[in-house]
Amino acid sequence: MTSYPRLLAPLDLGFTTLKNRVLMGSMHTNLEERGDWNRVAEFYAARARGGVGLIVTGGMAPNAEGGVFPGAGGLFSDKDIADHHYVTDRVHEEGGKIVMQILHAGRYAYSPDCVAPSPVKSPISPFPPKELDAVGIEKQIADIVTSACRAREAGYDGVEIMGSEGYFLNQFLVTHTNKREDEWGGSPEKRMRLPIEVVKRVREAVGADFILIYRLSMIDLIPNGQTWEEVVTLAKAVEAAGATIINTGIGWHEARIPTIATSVPRRAFSWVTKKLMGEVSIPVITSNRINTPEVGEEVLSDGCADMISMARPFLADPDFVNKAAEGRGAEIAPCIACNQACLDHTFAGKLTTCLVNPLACHETEIEITQTNAPKNVAIVGAGPAGVMTAITAAERGHQVTLYDRAGQVGGQLNMAKQVPGKEEFHGLVAWFETMLSKAGVDLRLNTNVVAQDLDGADEVIIATGVTPRDPQIPGQDGPNVVNYIDVLRDRAVVGKRVAVVGAGGIGFDVSEFLVTEDSPAEDLEAWKAEWGVGDPSETRGGLHPEGSQPDAPEREVTLLQRKAEKPGRRLGKTTGWIHRATLKMKGVKMVGGVNYERIDADGLHVSEGEARENPRLIAVDTIVLCAGQLPERSLADALEAKGQSCHVIGGADVASELDAKRAINQGVRLAVGL
Ligand code: NAP
Ligand code: SF4
Repeated sequence: MTSYPRLLAPLDLGFTTLKNRVLMGSMHTNLEERGDWNRVAEFYAARARGGVGLIVTGGMAPNAEGGVFPGAGGLFSDKDIADHHYVTDRVHEEGGKIVMQILHAGRYAYSPDCVAPSPVKSPISPFPPKELDAVGIEKQIADIVTSACRAREAGYDGVEIMGSEGYFLNQFLVTHTNKREDEWGGSPEKRMRLPIEVVKRVREAVGADFILIYRLSMIDLIPNGQTWEEVVTLAKAVEAAGATIINTGIGWHEARIPTIATSVPRRAFSWVTKKLMGEVSIPVITSNRINTPEVGEEVLSDGCADMISMARPFLADPDFVNKAAEGRGAEIAPCIACNQACLDHTFAGKLTTCLVNPLACHETEIEITQTNAPKNVAIVGAGPAGVMTAITAAERGHQVTLYDRAGQVGGQLNMAKQVPGKEEFHGLVAWFETMLSKAGVDLRLNTNVVAQDLDGADEVIIATGVTPRDPQIPGQDGPNVVNYIDVLRDRAVVGKRVAVVGAGGIGFDVSEFLVTEDSPAEDLEAWKAEWGVGDPSETRGGLHPEGSQPDAPEREVTLLQRKAEKPGRRLGKTTGWIHRATLKMKGVKMVGGVNYERIDADGLHVSEGEARENPRLIAVDTIVLCAGQLPERSLADALEAKGQSCHVIGGADVASELDAKRAINQGVRLAVGL
């Protein structure tokens, strides 16, 4: 008897049956644009092999003007159809099903040729869109229909029409972006006409036995968004027009409410999808921040949806479903919702991958094969770099011993997991423990290693991490000064008025920790109040009429840096704004361009600019040093001094811009080559 009976139950769509209730949601990987179709095919085939019920591809443009960026992939030629057929064949060979998402970006297209219902520029694109005339609208419909027909020719099992997240079809639905007074705007009925027409004409063109998912925005999270009544009316009309399934979209991309970041509580929006259950008779899918089979099962048993969609979790682990089905749920590599290697890469034009699983989108390049020359491998440091090297090397058949001075594995992640909104790191550390044990790594915790201890090893890997940088501020030895390790790991006592020196990732984390007593990520209602999320049945677009209502901060915090730029500018592209907004809500003062003159009992004395102007005191009880980090190389240096070669990885190699993404990637790639 499985622990996930609902999740693993088949879903009969009449003309076809999905083997379970798990959809791999659409993600743009940038793979298609590289033209290596074997690589694209292996990416999707690996997920099909892993047991997922239905795959949705990344968004494909129906035409040039609708592409997310110039040159975005789509089915424009016979060659495109043949390339995509290669992918669908491979997925089918693995027993999977796959539908192609048709994504028309409208005013979100990063292109001077972008088109929209009205010439309303988007805040997330520099290009004002051209207003379509009636002929132009007909062309967009025709192009979407053609794209769907070509998808069928390319062997897809269906299409998903992207109608949410603020893209083209969504832009027609609301007065925020649709100012038209013709037959495509002016009243809710006319604003809905385009998506309904698209579904109707696609259905007519592709025939009855082809999956047609419509991704519908259930909570826009923007001013003047749809009312719930409009959402339900559209859903019913989309069903009547021929949709097979309705998928959930949450929030426009320009919404100022986080919808998928780590700090968003798990299944934070399943209650929204639940409101649609019973209103339509076709299956409904819910999504956002579902990342374990337990959460998926709970969402289904609570009657929130007929099926769940997960996207990023399939980057972290292609075998998610098979592992769940085989009772190996603890072995599922967890998506920690960090966006660091997926969305942040996508938006930077880089290939998508995953912090936890560097093999994602690199399936044909990094292969974990059995070694035919097993070695004794000694690894020092059980942070992300050391752990992932150990797991990978042991899986390949090497004899691996992993040492750490600490009493637990995970290194700096054990500090990160203390930060409000970063609770997902607990799951990652637990997964490390499970996989180390499964791979048969000889784990020696609470062990101080010196160079001589490593004499017998065939390969020595130093992953000893980092030490805090000393900012050398006069007076920093005083009793009112602590560093981030004292605060996050050792729970040092911190006063009510605090200055945080250094506004990097850790300075932001520490500031969040200091202003927040209990994490709202653990409490959905508190999180909704903090970000101003209301019930879409009561308030248009689900924006709470009172706006954001955060709890009062626990402390008065000033976050400082020497650079004259805006603090937090270098944080993750898709998450930096959330960290900045969180601190702003909690009244944290963010100050750039300072010199740290000295610290005394009154607080931190600073001045501004090269001329050290405007000297002033920041009167605080405690100063927390978060001034970056330096490689901890003492063991590596000792080995070198005695002539023993070693590999140095992670923070011990390069500390600047260190994060778990680089550490894990470096460790896995090293282990693959041992
Ligand atoms: P960091 O991001 O390099 O930031 C170091 C901070 O210290 C900067 O604000 C820097 O600003 C300041 N600083 C540098 N030298 C200084 C000196 N001599 N005196 C005073 N201030 C100095 O390092 P971090 O905050 O320690 O974070 C380490 C890594 O962990 C980051 O690279 C990040 O990728 C990762 N991390 C990521 C997240 C995340 O949310 N993604 C969270 C935590 C950590 P000025 O030089 O302008 O003063
Ligand atoms: Fe999840 Fe982070 Fe991997 Fe993206 S990079 S899939 S958010 S763990």
